[in-house]
Amino acid sequence: MSKSELPIGYTWQYCRTAGYEIAACIKYSMADLYDPDKGWIETDDVLVEVIRATDWKAPGQVWRFNPYDKDSLLSDFAGMEMSNDSILEFINKYGLFYDINDEGFASSQLEEYNGRPLKSGEFTKKGTLYRFHSADDLKNLRNEISKAKAAIRILDIINHDNEDIIVRRINGTYSIGRLDSQAVALIFPDLGRIIARVGNAVEGYSKNEQIDISYQFVRHLISKHTQDNGVTLTLLPYQTTSSSAVKLQPFITPRNLMGVIWHLIANEASSAYGLRRCEECGTWFRFMKQNARTCGPTCRKRISRKAQAV
Ligand SMILES: [Zn+2]
Repeated sequence: MSKSELPIGYTWQYCRTAGYEIAACIKYSMADLYDPDKGWIETDDVLVEVIRATDWKAPGQVWRFNPYDKDSLLSDFAGMEMSNDSILEFINKYGLFYDINDEGFASSQLEEYNGRPLKSGEFTKKGTLYRFHSADDLKNLRNEISKAKAAIRILDIINHDNEDIIVRRINGTYSIGRLDSQAVALIFPDLGRIIARVGNAVEGYSKNEQIDISYQFVRHLISKHTQDNGVTLTLLPYQTTSSSAVKLQPFITPRNLMGVIWHLIANEASSAYGLRRCEECGTWFRFMKQNARTCGPTCRKRISRKAQAV
């Protein structure tokens, strides 16, 4: 498919919403927090705490960027481990996953508020520290990340012409259970049990039940989460060059980074050069040949040496 044939909105996608704030993320225990209504909260839960860099942006401003520019976004996401540290590392590189529902506290209030002494350099001017209770709360976030990672793996598995190979890969990756006529559960060793409500699913993708359910599952998962994260088509003013007339152009505008990720996953369903997991080292890579099995020459040689040894 050439670039000009891409679906409308695809080639010029960007995030129109206020954008994401790239800032240092640190984590701290909720046990350090004092809630005015509940008193001291004792829990080991971890929140993502984002410090707005007041040196380069005034409070209230955000830095727009285009997450679609970064080719590594989806492969980094697919390869990200489920630990808090790995998730925070990803957030520091690409920005927050959800909306910025900021409730600011002046730094002086904050010191009083959570009792944690501010590290030197955190605030060079009178700054504001933002906490995101409902945004990148890692507990909720991990749940959605598991689903997105499951969708990437399923698409990688079912994007193959040979049904025997698909079934073998399914058996090596997850097990399937039908909860009732409306819901399906897939169980992954490292991602846990993931449920999709398939409703009145369109069946008939394959005579093999495992393949059929995999399609229903991933279709509903992706449709639901692209909607939930506001992936919509919007007409926006657009200029080809600074001197040309302003015209309308369709854009796909996810509301947040999670929406960008679901949108990219949706594109994987029909991508000629999809993401694939290296059979040797497990790294996710974008394959350029349909029969590619490894991320590069090193892993390819290793696999062929193993095959010869057998
Ligand atoms: Zn490899």
